[in-house]
Amino acid sequence: MSNRPVTEWFGEAPERGFRQLFAVREELLHTRSAYQDMRVLETVPFGRMLVLDGAVQTTEADEFIYHEMLVHVPLLHVEHPRDVLIIGGGDGGALRRVLAHGVAKATMVEIDEQVVRVSREYLPAVGAGAFDDPRANVVFADGAAYLREAAGESFDAIIVDSTDPVGPAQVLFSADFFASAYRALRPGGVYVTQVGSPILLPGELREAYRGLGALFPHCRAYLAGIPSYPAVLLGFLMAGKEPFAWATPPEIRARWEERWLETAYLTPELATAAFVLPAYVQAIISGQDLSQGRFPVVV
Ligand code: SAM
Repeated sequence: MSNRPVTEWFGEAPERGFRQLFAVREELLHTRSAYQDMRVLETVPFGRMLVLDGAVQTTEADEFIYHEMLVHVPLLHVEHPRDVLIIGGGDGGALRRVLAHGVAKATMVEIDEQVVRVSREYLPAVGAGAFDDPRANVVFADGAAYLREAAGESFDAIIVDSTDPVGPAQVLFSADFFASAYRALRPGGVYVTQVGSPILLPGELREAYRGLGALFPHCRAYLAGIPSYPAVLLGFLMAGKEPFAWATPPEIRARWEERWLETAYLTPELATAAFVLPAYVQAIISGQDLSQGRFPVVV
């Protein structure tokens, strides 16, 4: 495999004049599901890559960074996570990390059954058996409709592992969706979502922060460097419902040890440090006017 010639340079559609390219040795699959265009590429730098509607979703080589940051950071702030909801997440990487916290039940609501089928076949290392765990409850439905109709169901954490807010995932960034998530969260529960690149999509980060901040008494942004995502640095938002206490560094360390978390990116120290933000990201979320040239981003 490693000696095969490069057949293509794959890149997502340019965003604000920026594009990064991946050398591809082979296209393993190209198909269309009822919801989206799907490709699995064997890339030179990151191994197998899942691409939905032209956007990189996950790669074998760096999925651990995204999934550890998306899941472990919020769950370390929940003292006893029992019931966790994942919206999206069809590759299984988030499900696998949620199960590592000793939860009683992890419900994953994915709109597109074919993403799960393809991921299990072509990217089995990402889910690493999570779909076969008896605590995994996989539902194929639109996450927004599911939460709207989830009468009586409540969760200790809601993790939005979706595609970017265009196409089927757009509803997952709406005020209505945030409100249903708020209702379905138990007291002390946390909500987390990825919000894309703060430098390429500052408006996306600001809008999601405003929307969540209007409902949740606690909302903070954190960051991680994930090489296969556009411009590397990815933003996340974590919101907490009343009564909610941010876990202290000693509590995070104690929970880490109790749960025997095994990671390749996150450490207990980083789970706190990831919330320390550069000035331009603080400016975006605090709604400062960035068009005056003080910061290198134009909203
Ligand atoms: N890490 C990825 C990223 O940020 O690019 C997300 C990966 S995961 C494969 C995203 C999943 O969200 C896709 O499988 C997609 O089908 C699913 N999805 C998109 N909109 C959804 C919705 N409204 N309800 C449930 N799942 C949705």
